[in-house]
Amino acid sequence: MTLRGEGLVKSVVAEGGEDDRALRPPRLADFIGQSDLKEKLSVAMIAARTRGEVLDHTLFSGPPGLGKTTLAAIVAAEMGGRLQSTTAPAITRPGDLARLLTLLEKGDILFLDEIHRLSPVCEEILYQAMEDRAIDFILGEGAAAQSVKLKLQPFTLIGATTRAGLLSSPLKTRFGLELRLDFYAAEDLARIVQRSAAILRMKLSEGAALALAARARMTPRVANRLLRRLRDYATVEAQELIDTQFAAARLDALGIDELGLVELDRRLLSLLIGRYRGGPVGLRTLAALVDEEERTLEEDHEPYMLRLGLMEKTPQGRVATRMAYQHLGIAAQNAAAEGDERLPF
Ligand code: ADP
Repeated sequence: MTLRGEGLVKSVVAEGGEDDRALRPPRLADFIGQSDLKEKLSVAMIAARTRGEVLDHTLFSGPPGLGKTTLAAIVAAEMGGRLQSTTAPAITRPGDLARLLTLLEKGDILFLDEIHRLSPVCEEILYQAMEDRAIDFILGEGAAAQSVKLKLQPFTLIGATTRAGLLSSPLKTRFGLELRLDFYAAEDLARIVQRSAAILRMKLSEGAALALAARARMTPRVANRLLRRLRDYATVEAQELIDTQFAAARLDALGIDELGLVELDRRLLSLLIGRYRGGPVGLRTLAALVDEEERTLEEDHEPYMLRLGLMEKTPQGRVATRMAYQHLGIAAQNAAAEGDERLPF
């Protein structure tokens, strides 16, 4: 079996291609869950439309796969503007950002993903663009250089970040709306899965939707990816209806356990417990031991484990909780007494 769990939690925007686009809810009314956020966003959009203005610059923050990109597209659809999307790491030179901004038309939505990774010079340009709807640029060189102010069309910047804490405060304060996406409740995820199954023309029992939702890390993107993997099994095995038993057995085969942990999550916890007696262990050490990038652990794996209470973050490093010992079936004292040798990694 080459399909393993890790790939299922990676934030791969391109994953799914056509299918992925088809599964994105097109309007706010189709967007399931996050009721608080939807309410705030809806009021802001109606008010802006009523006044004939563009929506205030908006920041969406939260772990990957919770719907930030989807919401940006929804805002464009609801406000009747064009959506221009890019990611901060793709903007390598200030000129790239200036060009992007000057090409915006009235009412456009500029979606800037991973906005916490914008370079300081680009941030400066963005401040002015957000606040004064203008950018300054230098014409000519040396003594003859002249600063020219260029007016921009009214636009809405939608920033998305998985790391709101890394955003500089001058940038943060320039957003009129700051909306945080939270992990999804199991019932909301089950509804998302049922909606996706209907679009993909899959027959899925209610129990199977709930079983899948329980293992989807409270994250719609993961839920949709697991659903596609189940669809693969159903196709290969000519299974018309996916029921609870079929779903649970195939999710087991994919290495997704009842809490939705994948092999890498379990390895991290095993290392923490077995080699370091529960921690604390620094992120860099953990990343080196499992041969992954620190950012992957921090953005794709840890938030969910922290949320579940399997792990804690302390100033000294990561610590496994009692729940982690229980989940791996290890008695806390035994693990501490036995050290690394007897543990499964
Ligand atoms: P992010 O930008 O936060 O990483 P995305 O907007 O790309 O997340 O969402 C990932 C996928 O999850 C989307 O393709 C979409 O189909 C689905 N999705 C996210 N939120 C919802 C929701 N509230 N209702 C239905 N589907 C959702």
